[in-house]
Amino acid sequence: MSYTYDDQNIFAKILRGEIPNETVMETDHTLAFNDIGPQAPTHVLVIPKGAYVSHDHFCAEATDAEILDFARVTSRILSDKGLSPGQGGDGYRVISNAGTDGVQEVPHYHLHILGGRPLGRMLQ
Ligand code: 5GP
Repeated sequence: MSYTYDDQNIFAKILRGEIPNETVMETDHTLAFNDIGPQAPTHVLVIPKGAYVSHDHFCAEATDAEILDFARVTSRILSDKGLSPGQGGDGYRVISNAGTDGVQEVPHYHLHILGGRPLGRMLQ
């Protein structure tokens, strides 16, 4: 099986500039922007600029430079938003939904960064 990427998905359109976004950070390989329906005071989506559908697709096929950049952008946002417990913040949740069971709405790989309020237990 190989991965199929739908280039008409919303995030592909954002990357092509066809739909506006509130950019939080942008690098050569990565774009981060505010979620349109925030679930917490901070709700940022981090996406690679490459055409990857999921975490496993990204980790399997992205270059080391893309993966490192994506990780560093995520970390910088956690720090810039004051969420990092190691830097005096109250913490955060980073999640990625994939496929049907994961209830992934947009089939372009993304991380959700959530923070700024107590997020409750996710796993019991
Ligand atoms: P998923 O369920 O795929 O993990 O989450 C997709 C996220 O994308 C949702 O939280 C949704 O609010 C967000 N979203 C959907 N359409 C848009 C859009 O056009 N702009 C932005 N900024 N976020 C979007």
